[in-house]
Amino acid sequence: MAKSTHQLFKYLLLSEESLSPEQESALKEHLRECAECRQQEAAWTNVQQMFERAPVLPPAAGFTVRLQERMAVQRVQAQRKRAWTFFGVTAGIALVLSALLVYVTVQEIISPLQLLSKGIYFFVMLFGYYRQISSFVGSVNPAIPILSITGLVFFTGFVSLLSVLWVVAYRKLSSMRRIIS
Ligand SMILES: [Zn+2]
Repeated sequence: MAKSTHQLFKYLLLSEESLSPEQESALKEHLRECAECRQQEAAWTNVQQMFERAPVLPPAAGFTVRLQERMAVQRVQAQRKRAWTFFGVTAGIALVLSALLVYVTVQEIISPLQLLSKGIYFFVMLFGYYRQISSFVGSVNPAIPILSITGLVFFTGFVSLLSVLWVVAYRKLSSMRRIIS
């Protein structure tokens, strides 16, 4: 019997794949002739039987506990990660909204301020005209108290209009802030 044929049957003996009918009959024939392969087959059968008979040992209690602990830790970490992701996304949205709010606030604050500065400018202009007119009128007709009262009424009305604008702008902003937070 050639050495290579002997090796082939040893391989077939240990093979876990099912053999073809030809391989099986050839192996049986070889086993009848070869004591070494018969011995190996017996040993291999023994080993397989041992594996089959051996009880499936449960993992050590410590191992199970450690595994469960590790899984619990991983679960918590996953939850924490999800929470942080959620927090990050929410914070990002809040940041964008805050930036938008600040932008809107600045816009809202600037417009009353601009209105105020325009109003002051207008009032100064009006005051200049008033002085010119009053000096002109005063020189012609001493009706300055009437003009000054008109100016005062106009000024008061203008200031109250500005106050109303301010209050409206402030209310709008604070209500927006309340909705956001
Ligand atoms: Zn053999």
